[in-house]
Amino acid sequence: MSHSAPSMITITPHDLPLICTGPENETWNGHPRVFLPIQSNSSIECPYCGQHYHLNGIAEQHH
Ligand SMILES: [Zn+2]
Repeated sequence: MSHSAPSMITITPHDLPLICTGPENETWNGHPRVFLPIQSNSSIECPYCGQHYHLNGIAEQHH
C-alpha cells in the first residue's frame, strides 16, 4: 500500500495523546516523535510531515 500525498487520518479520543512520527511508509521522510495538540472534533496538520489528523470526538483535558 502506498500513496503519493498525505491523507487524512481519523482518530478517536482513545488514540490520544496524538503523536506523529512521520509517514510509516516513507522512513526517509520521518521525524522525531512530536505531540500534536488536537482539539475536539477538529483537524490538525503535523508541522513536520504535513500529515492531517481529524479527531472524531471530545479531547478530554487531564490537567
Ligand atoms: Zn508528522
